Amino acid sequence: MAHDEPYILITNDDGIYAPGLQTLADALAGRWDTVVVAPDREQSASSHSLTLHHPLRVQKVTPDRYSVDGTPTDCVMLGMHGLLPRKPNLVISGINQGSNLGDDVIYSGTVAAAVEGTLLGCAAIAISLVPDAGNGYDFTAARDISCEVVAQVIRDGLRPDFLLNVNIPGGPAGNIHGYRVCRLGRRIYREGILQDVDPRGKPYYWIGGQDPAWVGGDDTDFQAIEDGYISLTPLRLDWTRDEELSAMHDWELISPAGCGNGENGAAGNAATGEKRAEGGDQTGSEAGSS
Ligand code: MN
Repeated sequence: MAHDEPYILITNDDGIYAPGLQTLADALAGRWDTVVVAPDREQSASSHSLTLHHPLRVQKVTPDRYSVDGTPTDCVMLGMHGLLPRKPNLVISGINQGSNLGDDVIYSGTVAAAVEGTLLGCAAIAISLVPDAGNGYDFTAARDISCEVVAQVIRDGLRPDFLLNVNIPGGPAGNIHGYRVCRLGRRIYREGILQDVDPRGKPYYWIGGQDPAWVGGDDTDFQAIEDGYISLTPLRLDWTRDEELSAMHDWELISPAGCGNGENGAAGNAATGEKRAEGGDQTGSEAGSS
């Protein structure tokens, strides 16, 4: 398989000075051609937000590190379009301080940055470190594991639609049992809103609360982490629920042209267009013209 020379864009959602990014960037820079484009401050849980309503300012912190007063998605967008002398072919987001397991990937700024890389035609990896209970975050083992995963993805040929979510158990390397290829589990976010009154007597709400739980089988990322394994989950961006497509062609919806004139629009809706073409009711407006 032909390997393009890797040019790696490193970003995160914890900010350019976060130890997870610094550790990862230092390690990768020793082996590959790398550049950092990262937010100038923490942007955790920013998901896939893009800054459209004010200009973005970029600061060149060192010759190969740029900070941006925007979101992780902004950073990847800038890095892929014009800020850099050439287009990266691998985006790595992390190492995040905290896990991104199961449904967390929907909220995660770390994963969003990797998603943006994939949307812009690049292989991408999101890497997160699970806290070690009582000991916080030690990125030493996570750094070496990250380098190994990056090397494998490069050997795999940097496929432009390859998006990988990695979670690494906290604690020393000796406590990590290996890698597990697994699917996303389901998060259960419990009693997530704190409500109180501010010093001026106005109520406020604070999203947070109890630690979330999870459900899912032995094949999930949650189980892998609980068992002391590194979770590797390949992700897709096409959210289409394929198994619903054919059943929804039977929906009886009223077409815009049929609204208000008493017609049952089963015949005139794009959703039923395929069925009509097979010889269904031919009255009503043409599917596809609505
Ligand atoms: Mn974060």
